[in-house]
Amino acid sequence: MIDTSTPMTRRRVLISAPRQIDLVEEAIPELAPDEALVSLRVAGVCGSDLHGLHGSHPTMKPPYYPGHEVVGVIEKLGAQVTGFAIGQLVTPEPTLPCGRCKMCRTDRSNICENLEFFGCGFREGGMADVFSVRASRLHVIPEGFDLRQAALIEPLSTPVHAVRLAGDLQGKAVVIIGCGTIGLLVLAAARANGARRIVMTDVLESKRAGALARGADAVVDAATPELAASVRSELGETADVVFDCVSIQPTINSAIEMVQRGGAVVIVGVPSKPVEVPAFILQDRQVRLQGSATYMSEDYAEAIRILASGAIDASTMITASFPLEETQEAFAAAESGDQIKVLVTGAGVVL
Ligand SMILES: [Zn+2]
Ligand SMILES: [Zn+2]
Repeated sequence: MIDTSTPMTRRRVLISAPRQIDLVEEAIPELAPDEALVSLRVAGVCGSDLHGLHGSHPTMKPPYYPGHEVVGVIEKLGAQVTGFAIGQLVTPEPTLPCGRCKMCRTDRSNICENLEFFGCGFREGGMADVFSVRASRLHVIPEGFDLRQAALIEPLSTPVHAVRLAGDLQGKAVVIIGCGTIGLLVLAAARANGARRIVMTDVLESKRAGALARGADAVVDAATPELAASVRSELGETADVVFDCVSIQPTINSAIEMVQRGGAVVIVGVPSKPVEVPAFILQDRQVRLQGSATYMSEDYAEAIRILASGAIDASTMITASFPLEETQEAFAAAESGDQIKVLVTGAGVVL
């Protein structure tokens, strides 16, 4: 007799070609002994998903299965998995390091030489009714977190890592270029790490207002002709650290101008095009240009701590949600510029 209570197939989102989002129906994957089967509760649409959809992301090229900002419930565990239980609410750390290379052996698994990335070109992604994932990458969502807070753990971990790489921010003057989702989360992470004064820039008035409402000390229109000078006057000094969450030629130029001397520019946004840097200025003024790639497990722990402290109002960060079958609409909303974080929800989830 066939057990009809257990579905044999799942729906999952496939970016099949540039600008083409399909919902395909296929068999539920067999679990490897070290994997968990997780059912989707919510999945965030990330800026990199939008780049991927347009074929402009450096590494995520269609066809691929999206969804790396995912929260779900453990449905099934592979034979060798220990330390987890069916029914737990979890979020995967989507980076899948090899565990063997020099980076993995020296505590830098986020830049593993053989890195695979769940939801970013890997055979599995989180925008699906159920998905399989290496259980060792799962983090249990603490009691008391709602789905909106849980959905921010992965997006916040990237800024937490960038802030950690910037060095001690205690008492420092900080600039954040870009008041989108990542910029706002850098704001929260920099504040949690003691930054004294934080000035943010964006070309959109509505985004600047959002940054002020969330605790930026001042905002400056990124289209201002003497941008670096305006930012400097709002800071009262040159910047110690500039976080570039946009990473295009004009923002890199102004970031280097803002730190002036002896400061650091942290590249947080994914550059979609090559950018030239003034090497002479970096050398002569002893400016540090620091790339920041994803996160490590300790950054997840710190992101959870910041969210648990109540420093971020998740209900104002998650501004729209769509069921899985309306993923196309979710991507369109995320692209409109009117939203902060857009979520795709699993079957039966009402936010
Ligand atoms: Zn992302
Ligand atoms: Zn590795």
